[in-house]
Amino acid sequence: MIKDNIGNTALEKHEALSRQYGTGIWIKEEYRNPGGSSKDRVAWYMVQDAIKYNKIPEGGIFVEASSGNTGISLALIARELGYQCKIFVSKSTSFEKILMLQRLGAQVEVCLNSNGPLDENSTQFKAKTFADQHPEAYFTNQYYNEANIEAHYQTTGPEIWRQMEGQVTHVLIGMGTGGTISGIGKYLKEKNPNIQIWGVEPINSIYQLIVQDMPIPEDQTKFDPIEGIGRTFIPGSFDPSVVDQVFQVSADKTKKIAHLFSHQNKQLTGYSSAAVLAALDEHAKVMNLKSSDRMVIVFPDHGDRYLEKLYSNKAGNKNGDLGFKHV
Ligand code: PMP
Repeated sequence: MIKDNIGNTALEKHEALSRQYGTGIWIKEEYRNPGGSSKDRVAWYMVQDAIKYNKIPEGGIFVEASSGNTGISLALIARELGYQCKIFVSKSTSFEKILMLQRLGAQVEVCLNSNGPLDENSTQFKAKTFADQHPEAYFTNQYYNEANIEAHYQTTGPEIWRQMEGQVTHVLIGMGTGGTISGIGKYLKEKNPNIQIWGVEPINSIYQLIVQDMPIPEDQTKFDPIEGIGRTFIPGSFDPSVVDQVFQVSADKTKKIAHLFSHQNKQLTGYSSAAVLAALDEHAKVMNLKSSDRMVIVFPDHGDRYLEKLYSNKAGNKNGDLGFKHV
């Protein structure tokens, strides 16, 4: 069963990073989940909730709006349990993820954006519309599903606490739906409210404004493209009360750091993982980490999902060239 292999991912101290930043840095290796990302945890919790409370008929269709990883996890789990899957991705999703989804048997629809349920061209709007029109379908809706935070509160948070033997001072996490940071943050703050919960997002994403309790400009509909993180609306899966600070990074800096880190470490780091490294690099002064600090950084997925847009010499996303049509 796929379930038996979800979670309990490795947490390893990274000696070179620790030396570079003069502090203890551990990587939570979420790319080791069977579906290749932290989203296996969330997909499993959402599917279990749907089945337990009869939200989906037997053999029905799980529907989701996803930048790809939640979709891949859902597709894997759905197939094993005898369900179908339909995933609405935005046109900025990497083609590796789209191909993976298709090979896993999911139906894929490419949408113009993922700007939230009020935008008619968004993945969230299209997914909801489809589910409303098909009684055999159930929209898991990770942006508003309590199981999203719960999965990380019940599993990732406790794992980090246990693996660090309670000796953790900071965590640094990329924010997409906000579920990972909210679940881990809630658990760790209950254990020790002094643990600093820090988020990472692309420039012009709105989480920093939310955490600082600032108004969100209506025209803020675009952020620097770092796949998997960043938001233009406030999702229900984000709990700002457990987040102490948000650091913004550019896609350019993230790409440079991804190349450097991958070269030095002989492994391809994921896009949002590289954004976390970029935040460390860009904001080291403000972070003011001490040699006695013990920081956990989360790597949600692996670089092999972004070969073309992050690691090829050709810049940009070529989904359009590959013939994917948007709905
Ligand atoms: N990194 C990647 C690669 C992701 O796919 C996601 C989820 N979209 C995140 C980070 C952010 O996780 P969360 O949605 O829990 O905030």
